[in-house]
Amino acid sequence: MNVLVIGANGQVGRKIVQKLQQTEHEPVAMVRESDQAKAFKKMGVKTVIGDLEKDFEHAFIDMEAIIFAAGSGGHTGADKTILIDQEGAIKAMDRAKHFGIKRCIMLSTIGADRPDLGPDDFKYYLYAKHRADEYLKASGLSYSILRPGSLTDEEGTGKVKLQEHLNEFGEIPREDVAATLVALLTTEGTNGKSYDVISGEQPIEDALAN
Ligand code: NAP
Repeated sequence: MNVLVIGANGQVGRKIVQKLQQTEHEPVAMVRESDQAKAFKKMGVKTVIGDLEKDFEHAFIDMEAIIFAAGSGGHTGADKTILIDQEGAIKAMDRAKHFGIKRCIMLSTIGADRPDLGPDDFKYYLYAKHRADEYLKASGLSYSILRPGSLTDEEGTGKVKLQEHLNEFGEIPREDVAATLVALLTTEGTNGKSYDVISGEQPIEDALAN
Protein backbone atom coordinates (compact mmCIF):
# COMPACT_ATOMS: atom_id res chain seq x y z
CA MET A 1 0.00 0.00 0.00
CA ASN A 2 1.02 3.62 -0.47
CA VAL A 3 1.14 4.90 3.09
CA LEU A 4 1.01 8.61 3.85
CA VAL A 5 2.94 9.29 7.06
CA ILE A 6 1.66 12.53 8.58
CA GLY A 7 4.26 13.92 10.97
CA ALA A 8 6.98 11.99 9.14
CA ASN A 9 9.73 14.36 10.26
CA GLY A 10 8.94 13.74 13.92
CA GLN A 11 10.91 11.43 16.15
CA VAL A 12 8.35 8.64 15.84
CA GLY A 13 7.48 9.60 12.26
CA ARG A 14 11.02 9.05 11.00
CA LYS A 15 11.09 5.60 12.56
CA ILE A 16 7.73 4.76 10.99
CA VAL A 17 9.11 5.70 7.57
CA GLN A 18 12.23 3.56 8.13
CA LYS A 19 10.13 0.59 9.26
CA LEU A 20 7.80 0.95 6.27
CA GLN A 21 10.82 0.88 3.96
CA GLN A 22 11.51 -2.63 5.26
CA THR A 23 8.02 -3.81 4.26
CA GLU A 24 6.17 -4.26 0.99
CA HIS A 25 4.50 -0.89 1.62
CA GLU A 26 5.62 2.40 0.13
CA PRO A 27 5.94 5.26 2.62
CA VAL A 28 5.20 8.81 1.51
CA ALA A 29 6.50 11.32 4.03
CA MET A 30 4.31 14.37 4.58
CA VAL A 31 6.57 17.16 5.83
CA ARG A 32 6.25 20.91 6.23
CA GLU A 33 9.56 22.12 4.80
CA SER A 34 11.43 21.46 1.56
CA ASP A 35 14.68 20.91 3.51
CA GLN A 36 12.98 18.11 5.43
CA ALA A 37 11.83 16.63 2.12
CA LYS A 38 15.42 16.61 0.83
CA ALA A 39 16.56 14.41 3.72
CA PHE A 40 13.85 11.85 2.96
CA LYS A 41 14.56 11.92 -0.78
CA LYS A 42 18.20 11.04 0.01
CA MET A 43 16.85 7.94 1.76
CA GLY A 44 14.85 7.06 -1.35
CA VAL A 45 11.55 8.04 0.28
CA LYS A 46 8.80 9.86 -1.62
CA THR A 47 7.66 13.08 0.00
CA VAL A 48 4.83 15.56 -0.13
CA ILE A 49 4.82 19.01 1.42
CA GLY A 50 1.80 19.55 3.64
CA ASP A 51 0.84 21.54 6.70
CA LEU A 52 -2.07 20.52 8.90
CA GLU A 53 -2.88 24.19 9.49
CA LYS A 54 -3.29 24.76 5.75
CA ASP A 55 -4.83 22.88 2.85
CA PHE A 56 -3.09 19.49 2.52
CA GLU A 57 -5.67 17.66 0.42
CA HIS A 58 -3.14 17.07 -2.39
CA ALA A 59 -1.18 14.77 -0.05
CA PHE A 60 -3.91 12.11 -0.22
CA ILE A 61 -3.82 11.60 -3.99
CA ASP A 62 -2.91 7.94 -4.76
CA MET A 63 -2.65 7.05 -1.05
CA GLU A 64 -4.20 3.86 0.32
CA ALA A 65 -3.42 4.20 4.03
CA ILE A 66 -2.37 6.87 6.50
CA ILE A 67 -0.47 6.83 9.75
CA PHE A 68 -1.07 10.00 11.75
CA ALA A 69 1.96 10.70 13.97
CA ALA A 70 1.91 14.51 14.05
CA GLY A 71 1.57 16.62 17.15
CA SER A 72 2.24 20.19 18.17
CA GLY A 73 4.79 19.06 20.79
CA GLY A 74 5.11 19.59 24.52
CA HIS A 75 6.46 23.15 24.17
CA THR A 76 3.19 24.53 22.78
CA GLY A 77 0.04 25.47 24.64
CA ALA A 78 -3.59 24.47 24.30
CA ASP A 79 -4.18 26.61 21.19
CA LYS A 80 -1.65 24.78 19.00
CA THR A 81 -2.50 21.41 20.52
CA ILE A 82 -6.12 21.89 19.51
CA LEU A 83 -5.13 23.12 16.04
CA ILE A 84 -2.76 20.23 15.29
CA ASP A 85 -3.51 17.21 17.49
CA GLN A 86 -7.27 17.66 17.34
CA GLU A 87 -8.37 19.74 14.34
CA GLY A 88 -5.43 18.68 12.14
CA ALA A 89 -6.24 15.05 12.84
CA ILE A 90 -9.94 15.60 12.18
CA LYS A 91 -9.17 17.32 8.85
CA ALA A 92 -6.90 14.39 7.93
CA MET A 93 -9.71 11.91 8.65
CA ASP A 94 -12.14 13.93 6.55
CA ARG A 95 -9.65 13.89 3.67
CA ALA A 96 -9.07 10.17 4.21
CA LYS A 97 -12.79 9.53 3.86
CA HIS A 98 -13.06 11.73 0.81
CA PHE A 99 -10.19 9.90 -0.90
CA GLY A 100 -11.39 6.40 0.06
CA ILE A 101 -8.36 5.61 2.23
CA LYS A 102 -8.48 1.92 3.20
CA ARG A 103 -6.67 2.05 6.54
CA CYS A 104 -6.13 4.83 9.07
CA ILE A 105 -3.74 4.35 12.01
CA MET A 106 -3.70 6.95 14.77
CA LEU A 107 -0.90 7.66 17.22
CA SER A 108 -2.73 8.85 20.32
CA THR A 109 -1.60 8.80 23.95
CA ILE A 110 -2.26 6.77 27.03
CA GLY A 111 -5.06 8.46 28.99
CA ALA A 112 -6.83 9.82 25.90
CA ASP A 113 -9.73 7.43 26.49
CA ARG A 114 -10.21 8.85 30.04
CA PRO A 115 -9.19 12.54 29.74
CA ASP A 116 -11.20 13.58 32.81
CA LEU A 117 -8.85 11.49 34.98
CA GLY A 118 -5.69 13.27 33.77
CA PRO A 119 -3.75 15.91 35.70
CA ASP A 120 -5.29 19.39 35.40
CA ASP A 121 -2.40 20.93 33.46
CA PHE A 122 -2.50 18.04 30.95
CA LYS A 123 -6.23 17.79 30.42
CA TYR A 124 -6.36 20.03 27.31
CA TYR A 125 -3.90 17.67 25.60
CA LEU A 126 -5.79 14.52 26.62
CA TYR A 127 -9.09 16.05 25.50
CA ALA A 128 -7.61 17.06 22.13
CA LYS A 129 -6.38 13.51 21.57
CA HIS A 130 -9.67 12.11 22.88
CA ARG A 131 -11.76 14.18 20.47
CA ALA A 132 -9.58 13.15 17.53
CA ASP A 133 -9.85 9.49 18.55
CA GLU A 134 -13.62 9.68 18.98
CA TYR A 135 -13.97 11.37 15.59
CA LEU A 136 -11.99 8.55 13.99
CA LYS A 137 -14.12 5.90 15.70
CA ALA A 138 -17.28 7.49 14.33
CA SER A 139 -15.83 8.17 10.87
CA GLY A 140 -16.63 4.89 9.20
CA LEU A 141 -12.94 4.51 8.25
CA SER A 142 -11.08 1.28 8.87
CA TYR A 143 -8.95 2.35 11.83
CA SER A 144 -6.76 1.36 14.74
CA ILE A 145 -5.72 3.68 17.56
CA LEU A 146 -2.52 3.24 19.57
CA ARG A 147 -2.17 4.99 22.95
CA PRO A 148 1.43 4.68 24.13
CA GLY A 149 2.83 5.62 27.51
CA SER A 150 5.80 7.97 27.88
CA LEU A 151 8.04 7.85 24.79
CA THR A 152 11.77 7.23 25.17
CA ASP A 153 14.70 7.14 22.77
CA GLU A 154 15.93 3.76 24.02
CA GLU A 155 16.55 1.08 21.43
CA GLY A 156 13.39 -0.88 20.63
CA THR A 157 13.00 -4.37 22.07
CA GLY A 158 10.12 -5.48 19.84
CA LYS A 159 8.28 -6.47 23.01
CA VAL A 160 5.30 -4.70 24.51
CA LYS A 161 2.47 -4.86 26.98
CA LEU A 162 -0.61 -4.06 24.92
CA GLN A 163 -4.26 -4.16 25.94
CA GLU A 164 -7.46 -2.33 25.21
CA HIS A 165 -7.07 -0.71 28.64
CA LEU A 166 -3.97 -0.95 30.82
CA ASN A 167 -4.44 -0.03 34.43
CA GLU A 168 -0.85 1.13 34.71
CA PHE A 169 1.43 3.77 33.29
CA GLY A 170 4.88 3.14 31.80
CA GLU A 171 7.42 4.01 29.15
CA ILE A 172 8.03 2.68 25.68
CA PRO A 173 10.77 3.34 23.11
CA ARG A 174 9.66 5.34 20.07
CA GLU A 175 11.05 2.53 17.92
CA ASP A 176 8.59 0.03 19.41
CA VAL A 177 5.73 2.47 18.94
CA ALA A 178 6.69 2.88 15.27
CA ALA A 179 6.92 -0.89 14.81
CA THR A 180 3.50 -1.38 16.39
CA LEU A 181 1.90 1.33 14.24
CA VAL A 182 3.31 -0.28 11.09
CA ALA A 183 2.17 -3.75 12.22
CA LEU A 184 -1.33 -2.37 12.80
CA LEU A 185 -1.62 -1.51 9.11
CA THR A 186 -2.15 -5.12 8.13
CA THR A 187 -2.72 -7.22 11.27
CA GLU A 188 -6.05 -8.96 10.94
CA GLY A 189 -8.54 -8.36 13.72
CA THR A 190 -7.21 -4.91 14.67
CA ASN A 191 -9.75 -2.94 12.65
CA GLY A 192 -11.91 -0.77 14.91
CA LYS A 193 -9.71 -1.44 17.95
CA SER A 194 -7.86 0.89 20.32
CA TYR A 195 -4.92 -0.15 22.47
CA ASP A 196 -2.85 1.17 25.35
CA VAL A 197 0.79 0.15 24.98
CA ILE A 198 3.94 0.28 27.13
CA SER A 199 7.10 -1.81 27.12
CA GLY A 200 6.56 -5.43 28.06
CA GLU A 201 7.45 -9.04 27.43
CA GLN A 202 5.26 -9.99 24.47
CA PRO A 203 6.46 -9.73 20.86
CA ILE A 204 4.46 -7.03 19.05
CA GLU A 205 2.93 -9.47 16.54
CA ASP A 206 1.75 -11.82 19.33
CA ALA A 207 0.33 -8.94 21.37
CA LEU A 208 -1.69 -7.72 18.38
CA ALA A 209 -2.81 -11.23 17.45
CA ASN A 210 -4.37 -11.83 20.88
P1 NAP B 1 7.64 15.12 17.50
O1 NAP B 1 9.04 14.71 17.31
O2 NAP B 1 7.36 16.48 18.08
O3 NAP B 1 6.91 15.01 16.07
C1 NAP B 1 5.73 15.66 15.78
C2 NAP B 1 5.68 15.92 14.29
O4 NAP B 1 4.45 16.62 14.00
C3 NAP B 1 6.82 16.80 13.76
O5 NAP B 1 7.43 16.19 12.66
C4 NAP B 1 6.13 18.07 13.33
O6 NAP B 1 6.67 18.69 12.17
C5 NAP B 1 4.75 17.55 12.99
N1 NAP B 1 3.82 18.68 12.96
C6 NAP B 1 3.61 19.62 13.91
N2 NAP B 1 2.76 20.54 13.45
C7 NAP B 1 2.43 20.19 12.18
C8 NAP B 1 1.61 20.74 11.17
N3 NAP B 1 0.95 21.91 11.35
N4 NAP B 1 1.51 20.10 9.98
C9 NAP B 1 2.19 18.95 9.76
N5 NAP B 1 2.99 18.37 10.67
C10 NAP B 1 3.11 18.98 11.87
O7 NAP B 1 6.86 14.09 18.42
P2 NAP B 1 7.17 12.54 18.65
O8 NAP B 1 8.11 12.37 19.77
O9 NAP B 1 7.46 11.92 17.32
O10 NAP B 1 5.75 12.05 19.16
C11 NAP B 1 4.68 11.95 18.25
C12 NAP B 1 3.36 12.11 18.98
O11 NAP B 1 3.21 11.06 19.94
C13 NAP B 1 3.25 13.37 19.82
O12 NAP B 1 2.85 14.47 19.04
C14 NAP B 1 2.23 12.99 20.86
O13 NAP B 1 0.95 13.37 20.43
C15 NAP B 1 2.28 11.47 20.92
N6 NAP B 1 2.71 10.96 22.23
C16 NAP B 1 3.80 11.47 22.86
C17 NAP B 1 4.21 10.97 24.09
C18 NAP B 1 5.47 11.46 24.77
O14 NAP B 1 5.87 10.91 25.81
N7 NAP B 1 6.16 12.45 24.21
C19 NAP B 1 3.49 9.94 24.69
C20 NAP B 1 2.37 9.43 24.03
C21 NAP B 1 2.00 9.95 22.80
P3 NAP B 1 8.11 19.43 12.18
O15 NAP B 1 9.12 18.34 12.17
O16 NAP B 1 8.07 20.23 10.94
O17 NAP B 1 8.16 20.25 13.44
